[in-house]
Amino acid sequence: MGKEIKKIGIVGAGFTGEQIAAQAALHEFIVNVYDIDPKIIEAAKKYITGVLKRKNQLESIKNVAYYSDLSDALKEVDLVIEAVPEDLELKKEVFSQIDNFAPVHTIIGTNSSSYPVSKIESAVKRKDKVLNLHFYPPIPTRPMVDIMRGTSTNDETFETGKIWIKNIGCEPIVVKKECLGFVFNRIWHTARREALNMWDKGYADIETIDLAWKIFTGMKMGPFILMDGIGLDTVYAVQMSYFEESGNPRDKPPDALKQMVKNGDLGMKTGKGFYTWRKKK
Ligand code: NAD
Repeated sequence: MGKEIKKIGIVGAGFTGEQIAAQAALHEFIVNVYDIDPKIIEAAKKYITGVLKRKNQLESIKNVAYYSDLSDALKEVDLVIEAVPEDLELKKEVFSQIDNFAPVHTIIGTNSSSYPVSKIESAVKRKDKVLNLHFYPPIPTRPMVDIMRGTSTNDETFETGKIWIKNIGCEPIVVKKECLGFVFNRIWHTARREALNMWDKGYADIETIDLAWKIFTGMKMGPFILMDGIGLDTVYAVQMSYFEESGNPRDKPPDALKQMVKNGDLGMKTGKGFYTWRKKK
């Protein structure tokens, strides 16, 4: 019942966009990469080419093209994934641009960590062809993608999305009805919220919380390292959207986190967050 996807467009080639592009290219899809920032396009090209070289898939390098013009990037694509920063107005604006430039049959997915596509879909005419397609980077070690409908998404769009997720080597995690945080992110949100509150109220150091988490779960990284990896601007925006939904003061991200974001201490991508890192880009 699903339609065949051959060519995809990535809009926003930052931390997650470049990974989605690389994963699709590794699975032999044709990928058009677009970002508003030429430096990010260069960095994404380096990253994606590096992944394809490491995996001995040199022949796929030619299947990935990089664009600084959105209308060129979206010619003939079957699926577009929006991965711009977690800002609802920006996402609506970008969805509207995609709707204008992409062919009529094209499905538009958002990689938003917190906004259901029902909040973005008013920006497009093709409300039957929108999806949440939420990735869990690093994609190779966490090969799953939440898939969720908007208010009018049709079965064909949903089925096509599910098949495409499988075709890029990931597991579709089906969300049966609209749910903030999808499946695993909702569980992860509560752990992150409690970790942030414990740090903010001085109950324990970040190193202690990370250590306890690692011992209990067997994972290599604790919540604060994970948050530094995600980017503290994204973490703050996501926590705020849970707070806006619930109104529960417990969900409100600490002011100290807001201050870190204001200072530009965004985690691994800027070299400083909860921990100090070598700058990524
Ligand atoms: P990022 O800041 O690394 O990348 C966003 C990119 O969007 C930047 O390169 C920026 O130049 C580009 N951009 C900004 N405005 C644009 C526009 N108008 N058109 C095209 N490109 C534009 O952010 P990220 O961490 O990759 O997050 C992107 C989205 O993915 C967010 O919605 C976030 O919630 C979601 N997400 C992030 C993670 C994570 O671990 N960071 C995980 C899952 C989902």
